[in-house]
Amino acid sequence: MAIPKDSRITLDAEEMPRKWYNLAADMPDLAPPLNPSTREPVKPEDFKPIFCNAIVEQEGSKKRFIDIPEEVRDNLVFLNRPAPLQRAYHLEKILKTPARIYFKREDMSPLGSHKGNTALAQAYYNAEEGIHTLTTETGAGQWGTALAMVSNLFDIDTTVFMVKGSYNQKPLRKTLMHMYGAKVHASPSTVTEFGRKVLSTNPDTSGSLGIAISEACEVAMKDDNTCYSLGSVLNHVMLHQTVIGQETLEQMRIGEIEPDYMIACVGGGSNFAGFTFPMMYEKMKERSKCEIIAVEPEAAPSLTEGEMRYDYGDTGGMTPLLMMYTLGSEFIPKSIHAGGLRYHGMSPLVSAAYDNGMLTAVSYDQLQTFEAGVMFAKAEGIVPAPESCHAVKAAIDKALECKVTGEEKTIVFCLSGHGLVDLYGYDQYMEGTMQSSSI
Ligand SMILES: *Cc1c(COP(=O)(O)O)cnc(C)c1O
Repeated sequence: MAIPKDSRITLDAEEMPRKWYNLAADMPDLAPPLNPSTREPVKPEDFKPIFCNAIVEQEGSKKRFIDIPEEVRDNLVFLNRPAPLQRAYHLEKILKTPARIYFKREDMSPLGSHKGNTALAQAYYNAEEGIHTLTTETGAGQWGTALAMVSNLFDIDTTVFMVKGSYNQKPLRKTLMHMYGAKVHASPSTVTEFGRKVLSTNPDTSGSLGIAISEACEVAMKDDNTCYSLGSVLNHVMLHQTVIGQETLEQMRIGEIEPDYMIACVGGGSNFAGFTFPMMYEKMKERSKCEIIAVEPEAAPSLTEGEMRYDYGDTGGMTPLLMMYTLGSEFIPKSIHAGGLRYHGMSPLVSAAYDNGMLTAVSYDQLQTFEAGVMFAKAEGIVPAPESCHAVKAAIDKALECKVTGEEKTIVFCLSGHGLVDLYGYDQYMEGTMQSSSI
């Protein structure tokens, strides 16, 4: 059999996008972040204690296309960009579905996930402005890993506050971050005032992303040459990730693939935004009828069960108030394996798009998502990250619907990362000791 031409669609390095797409340009009603003390829209200065100027500017930008700096583009190549768009033939066969299933391979980054796309851009801009240290939070560890590594390219030190539950559950992530040169603290930690405050009232807490963000911001605020870096949620992060979706559009054009569904998992929303915002732009211009689906865990269902309102991005109330779908900044989600999806809020841009009916959302229990992940690994050889398993599960469900209706639909999903450093979760699933997230 000849290898079908849509089995793996690749692009050359020169075909990598030259600009990021900014959905904010096409969302005129976007509610601005508010200063928590005045409740007035934040001024750029309000962000300056924690972010460098270029990032502050991008955060508020309404410009539709923003140039990707040459140095960032060059380095994206080392993260294996452009990433292939691949067809899941074996999975289709196992499912006996008439649907065609494609997936975008963010797992091919040496850093294991899509997170390097924004880490690179953020480290670059901070280095340009003379910042010597970046602080950040990490849940499952992918973000901390990505920032720790790319910071080295720009001579920046990294301090990571890792949610304690994950820190204890995923010791190898810590090893990886150490190898890349980062300092790693289990959060809540004793090195910040906020961490000590949380520990004094709740010494046994497994922590949360909200707490870790407060700690990282506190350290950044106390030193002029230290900035904070966030791996999801904010507009500039969504922006940097749009290389994913732009490449995918080009690959679908080459492969003559017209998607009926584009699917991605959502934690803070960045791989979803990166993968689907360029398609939303196509839809606004009525060039596609593709349905866009966000998939979240039942344990942290901000879109499907949260409220659209102003809320803090962190637990300590240090960040501006963001208009977003939220479960409340005090919310401490259950300790699920998809640590990257354990966040109380959702990107304001993704939230606004959801409010405008530009996407639909579903949620699944972790037992369902790991089942899908094992099926995918068996079929394609690639072990999806526990987060990505949510997208895999939704794609399988759509393919099974097609089996019932006989429709030959086209499903394209984002495989946001691989799960080779998260085999412990798979081990529990295989041994039958994993708990449902509804317990
Ligand atoms: C961090 C992470 C996520 C969740 O974050 P988003 O900002 O919603 O993309 C999903 N998948 C992987 C592999 C991750 O590392």
